[in-house]
Amino acid sequence: MTDLDSFRAETRKWLDANCPPEMRQPIRSEADICWGGRNWTFQSDAQRRWLEAMAERGWTVPDWPKDYGGGGLSANEARVLKEEMQRIGARPPLTSFGISMLGPALLAFGTEEQKRRYLPQIAHGEIRWCQGYSEPGAGSDLASLQTKAEDRDDHWLVNGQKVWTSYADKADWIFCLVRTSTESKQGGISFLLFDMETPGVSTKPILLISGSSPFCETFFDDVKVPKEQIVGEVNKGWDVAKYLLGHEREMISGMGLGMGGSLGAAVKPSDPMLRAEIAAFDVDALAFAAMSERFAAMWKSGEAHPASPSMMKYAGTELNKRRNELAMAAGGTEALEWEATPAARTWLRSKGNSIEGGTSEIQLNIVAKHILGLPGA
Ligand SMILES: Cc1cc2nc3c(=O)[nH]c(=O)nc-3n(C[C@H](O)[C@H](O)[C@H](O)COP(=O)(O)OP(=O)(O)OC[C@H]3O[C@@H](n4cnc5c(N)ncnc54)[C@H](O)[C@@H]3O)c2cc1C
Repeated sequence: MTDLDSFRAETRKWLDANCPPEMRQPIRSEADICWGGRNWTFQSDAQRRWLEAMAERGWTVPDWPKDYGGGGLSANEARVLKEEMQRIGARPPLTSFGISMLGPALLAFGTEEQKRRYLPQIAHGEIRWCQGYSEPGAGSDLASLQTKAEDRDDHWLVNGQKVWTSYADKADWIFCLVRTSTESKQGGISFLLFDMETPGVSTKPILLISGSSPFCETFFDDVKVPKEQIVGEVNKGWDVAKYLLGHEREMISGMGLGMGGSLGAAVKPSDPMLRAEIAAFDVDALAFAAMSERFAAMWKSGEAHPASPSMMKYAGTELNKRRNELAMAAGGTEALEWEATPAARTWLRSKGNSIEGGTSEIQLNIVAKHILGLPGA
């Protein structure tokens, strides 16, 4: 028996003993996802026990170093854990922007003190983070951002506005791009972390067509941020921002995988043309899942092209939109029912996939320029 075989056997035994049956049920709605944070109310005792058991073992972030609250697993061990969780249908114990976005950026750019302060909190789901990138005048052209942070000797003074800040009204802290110099566009941006309860921070929810909106406008009015809460060097925040975006795009590309399983097995319309479209979709979804596995392995071992998250994000989000279109077509008028089933809301929500984290057009520009080497994108 190899080391990996015994790791699999031990993992299977541990999961059987520690994953509550309720946490082996498919995720039906947003309410089944555990986001953690200071004000988090657990949906059930099982959800709390599952998070605590996994966090205790470092398995909310299996491949982070143990010193920072992770499991210290190798890439192969992390893959085995994922497979064993999938085998019993285990839900992720914790979903958060801290895990998928900020954590990797801190591991790459944070000081030792920042890593020891923030990473274990993320791993244990103690602090919920939101992302302060987009502004009313800075979306695709993100480096046009105007929220400014002035150097006031012992602190930064932040003034400005962000928009489309998902879950800003529920988050405890924000990772925020600010302008610290007007001399250069990308070279005048810094990356700050601060508590959403700091005086001068306010949020205003934005309503959406799907009815359930996570969005907020976020305002900063003379917000004082301690000097040490900058990640990376002053005016070099663009490097941190881009690195984080790579991880965000990798995470969003996972939408292409859906909840797993074949669409053809879930919906069985009588129309033969629609059945053929669904079969073609299932083939593409399998190809995407295989490509995803390969990309994840290359990304973890540092062999992936730096622009490959753009390729994956484009493919995964376009696929998820197609999945939802087909599910709606197969569901007929019943699928339009608004309250009893989540189908219509999920379909409308999927439209945002190819906008969030950078639009499909922007991903295609990046692929054209950096992977295909085409001019002028
Ligand atoms: C569900 C969702 C969640 C989000 N969450 C967050 C969040 O938590 N934090 C945050 O900071 N932001 C968030 N955003 C905002 C998101 O990052 C921006 O919406 C996105 O970057 C696009 O910017 P914009 O909306 O200003 O559109 P614009 O940049 O104004 O783009 C409008 C249209 O023009 C096209 N376009 C623009 N420039 C080009 C170009 N050079 N070439 C070709 N086409 C172009 C775009 O593709 C798009 O179709 C979220 C968005 C969504 C939909």
